[in-house]
Amino acid sequence: MEGLRRILGRIDGKGYKAYKDIAGVYGDERLTLYVDHVQGDPFAAPSKVRCRIPRQRAALPASLFDNPVRKLALQDFLARQVRHAIRKVVKGARGTGKSGLIDVDAGGQEVLERTAVVLRPEWVEVRLEVGLPGSGRSILGLQAIEMLCCELPEVAAQGLIWRNLPHDAARHFVDCVENQEYIRGQLRQQGLVAFVADGALLPRKSGVSDLPLEADSAVLFRSPESMRVTLELLHPLPGAGVAGRRISGMGVPAGVTLIVGGGYHGKSTLLQALERAVYPHIPGDGREYVVTCRDAVKVCAEDGRRVTGVDISPFINNLPFSRGTRAFSSDRASGSTSQAASLMEALEVGASALLMDEDASATNFMVRDARMQALVHKSCEPITPFVDRVRELYAAHGVSTVLVMGGCGDYFETADTVVMMREYVPVDVTRRAREIAAEIPTQRVNEGGAPLHVSMKRIPEAGSYSAARGRRGVRIDVPMLRHIRFGATEIDLGAMDQLVDISQTRAIAHALHLLRRFMGEGQDLRQLMTRLEACFDEQGLSCLSLYGEVEQHPGNFARPRKYEIAAALNRHLTIRFQ
Ligand code: ADP
Ligand code: MG
Repeated sequence: MEGLRRILGRIDGKGYKAYKDIAGVYGDERLTLYVDHVQGDPFAAPSKVRCRIPRQRAALPASLFDNPVRKLALQDFLARQVRHAIRKVVKGARGTGKSGLIDVDAGGQEVLERTAVVLRPEWVEVRLEVGLPGSGRSILGLQAIEMLCCELPEVAAQGLIWRNLPHDAARHFVDCVENQEYIRGQLRQQGLVAFVADGALLPRKSGVSDLPLEADSAVLFRSPESMRVTLELLHPLPGAGVAGRRISGMGVPAGVTLIVGGGYHGKSTLLQALERAVYPHIPGDGREYVVTCRDAVKVCAEDGRRVTGVDISPFINNLPFSRGTRAFSSDRASGSTSQAASLMEALEVGASALLMDEDASATNFMVRDARMQALVHKSCEPITPFVDRVRELYAAHGVSTVLVMGGCGDYFETADTVVMMREYVPVDVTRRAREIAAEIPTQRVNEGGAPLHVSMKRIPEAGSYSAARGRRGVRIDVPMLRHIRFGATEIDLGAMDQLVDISQTRAIAHALHLLRRFMGEGQDLRQLMTRLEACFDEQGLSCLSLYGEVEQHPGNFARPRKYEIAAALNRHLTIRFQ
């Protein structure tokens, strides 16, 4: 550290470029500081540093990271603690641009595998972004000493050393995440695709905030008696004692589940909770015991999206001008064709459950009622509506559907379970819906016809896309949660409701780049995704790093699911398939 102080003292007042001299490694047996990347000016992307603390000093209890789930949870927890320490310790703005900033990529309401904090047998490390202080173009060396030699070690110590951490909160966090994964592990054998605990708080503060609605204005979830299941936990719920190692709530069975009910009665809120419950949530989120199977994929209409070579023939046939639909491509797909394509793409990479909301669906994709069937003859309608496929998807392919459908009773025949939301309280109305289906026949004709094939296997063409932009090298940039700038193109992920963290989007963008290396060996998209996931499992997200070296930055990746990675690839403007 003395060496770093000396350099900073020497370059104080010089031109900003002189900061380049501090790249390197500093420290002692208590802490190692790696300055990996030094920014070019105070407005550029911040500098990247890592603080590493040896195991003996951090003294984190091994019981908190003795399996992969607990380790993931503890790393996520530590990143949050570092963020907390930054807020307490760091003075903040100190000059021009980003001068004075220290930042860590800690998560939101979901708990994800991320690269911000890395735990190894010998050490624990946090990766940070630092705005090196400057006044205009000249270095503020003394401020930099304060930041790098005082604040950073203090932040690392407060965020990573067990003695300084809130012990109960840490244990509770890790146990809670492990409980959620334990529930997820029970779903299949219980014949469920999702579980919503009694007492869960589903609504969010606002459309733009993912924080829970204040408890006094929220109706807590309560399962209908007939759908209540009790599952085992590994750790007792807080305040419940050892006897509390069980949890009750609504089991959403495999098969076809309809969520019906009046407008504004909480249907979409329930579905959104299920969408996000493919990830664990932090204690206090309200949805921490809402758990959905890992392979549940939200499917939306997305008119205007790019579609390349997708077999949408199970849903769409005989387009005008005899356009084929077995390898359908479009620069600007319609509502129905886009929804059919997204659905088939999800199945292509292994979705086992589909989540759909009438709010985000194309009406003509969902249903064609008796009157419309009478007016527009089947031979003039390319669409086989989802209502005529949804049962078959489960019966023949084992793919469940959870569907919000408040506007059309033609789905009653297709459903195994019908849940009605009434003033935010779920009611099991399955029997009544069946009676009504018998009393008031739908009169529509099933248009299912030929059996549904879900055997699409597309092989991406190597070199059909690239992150290069002209001669200016690779451009991979993620300005927003659902937008990627990739080479000369932009990828719009606006409809990816299950993409929850911008660090996942960054990882997706880099994954697209990495995938190019795997292509050209004849592997189809599903195989490529499996290979990529194996890379993540074996090497961690650092396999995405453009810097190449495993232990280096960036510390701002979070793990995405293969469904969102494939979705980004599928929306790429120049992707081609063999
Ligand atoms: P629907 O899809 O049935 O029209 P939404 O799910 O969009 O209804 O919910 C309508 C409004 O009610 C939203 O503002 C939502 O935040 C709120 N809301 C949903 N569930 C609850 C609940 N359990 N308690 C309080 N407010 C809720
Ligand atoms: Mg709704």
